[in-house]
Amino acid sequence: MPEAFEGGCACGHVRYRLNSKPMFVHCCHCRDCQRQTGSAFVVNALIETNRVDTLSGQTKAVPAPTDSGRPHVIHRCPNCETAVWSHYSGRRELSFVRVGSLDEPSEFPPDVHIYTRSKLPWVILPAGVPAFPAYYDSRTLWPSESLERRKAIFG
Ligand SMILES: [Zn+2]
Ligand SMILES: [Zn+2]
Repeated sequence: MPEAFEGGCACGHVRYRLNSKPMFVHCCHCRDCQRQTGSAFVVNALIETNRVDTLSGQTKAVPAPTDSGRPHVIHRCPNCETAVWSHYSGRRELSFVRVGSLDEPSEFPPDVHIYTRSKLPWVILPAGVPAFPAYYDSRTLWPSESLERRKAIFG
């Protein structure tokens, strides 16, 4: 029985299912993520888009401005506008699913903290979880199984 994890937006219109565990989980403390969430950071589960099934509702794709200039499209509920996942740099094969929109967000704690140079000072990071001032080298940090999965979608 494969593992599956369900989630959705705040109003319940959009419901989705992840058909496996993600490849890796980012906690991003960059200014873009802080502005877009109105919060201190965002937690994203990185998973193949073809492992994300939409159960109900169709997301609306909203381009977001970025500090880097690389494209970032946020998929939102068309009714309540909750963000449920993102695609970066036009790579639609890889979804960044908002862990807070899962029914059980505690399933996926961050595997890495990134852009900690703009982390708010009162956010205390746990010991034992890698943290980087900016981005990081996924080849050294991701489990080999996850690297294989990424290779399968990007080659
Ligand atoms: Zn909604
Ligand atoms: Zn960010």
